[in-house]
Amino acid sequence: MSDSPAQPDPGLAGKNALVTGGSRGIGRAIVERLASSGMDVTFTYVSNEEAANEVISDNPGLKITAMKVDVRDSGAARACVEAVVERVETIDVLVNNAGVIRDNLLPMLEDDDLSTVFDTNIQGVFNFCRAVVPFMMSKRTGRIINISSVSAEKGGRGQTNYAASKGAINSFTKALAVELGRRKILVNAVAPGVIETEMSQDVRDLAGDEITSNIVLKRYGQPSEIANAVWFLSSDLASYITGQILSVDGGFKM
Ligand code: NDP
Repeated sequence: MSDSPAQPDPGLAGKNALVTGGSRGIGRAIVERLASSGMDVTFTYVSNEEAANEVISDNPGLKITAMKVDVRDSGAARACVEAVVERVETIDVLVNNAGVIRDNLLPMLEDDDLSTVFDTNIQGVFNFCRAVVPFMMSKRTGRIINISSVSAEKGGRGQTNYAASKGAINSFTKALAVELGRRKILVNAVAPGVIETEMSQDVRDLAGDEITSNIVLKRYGQPSEIANAVWFLSSDLASYITGQILSVDGGFKM
């Protein structure tokens, strides 16, 4: 018999999650983490069908479903949520992860660099929350976790559009937490630092040493380290946490 105390049950087995942008990077790690805890996980992607199929084929035995849905399209978001609810009845956890960067110095930013970043990073969060919240309200339970960024609070050259979109996520998260608290729906954000994914490849190539020297832990983060934070905020272990922005950045923001 083991002397170690019994581990608390995270309470995720048998529940359902919807993760936007789950075909690659951080989103894929979140999908795999939640599905490994016994959740039925649906994820969206926008164009990379090959990567989306790989998430499923690399995880035999886990309940993972992929749907091609552009988060910028509110009608498509609504149809996606309705299809998921029709299949599994409830959405217990919504993770708004899909995001893009279009970094450039302010005078060089094209209109499209603004609209693509805002439409994906913040309008997409509105689209999925508006579609999911009525279902969560009727059940009087639910978790919403938005993926923000260290860039929301730490100024970065060439990131005005991206930083503004992530700052909007932080404000949105706090306001929605207040709005939904009475319905027992908890709303939080995770703010990653620099994580090793395709999105951060260019910035790591350009300024790698400068960045790591400013990170307290002197290394980049891994997608799994963000997924662990999302798993915690999804679980029963986080039952008294709402309206928070959890930095997972190796101390980069300090
Ligand atoms: P990746 O570029 O590796 O993956 C982005 C994912 O989002 C893909 O699954 C992509 O789908 C999907 N996506 C992009 N646009 C849309 C859209 N319009 N509709 C639906 N899905 C879309 O990014 P990361 O994993 O690095 O980033 C994930 C999140 O974490 C983002 O919100 C990002 O801002 C945030 N973040 C990342 C950091 C990092 O250092 N990597 C740091 C801080 C925050 P497809 O495969 O089809 O293209």
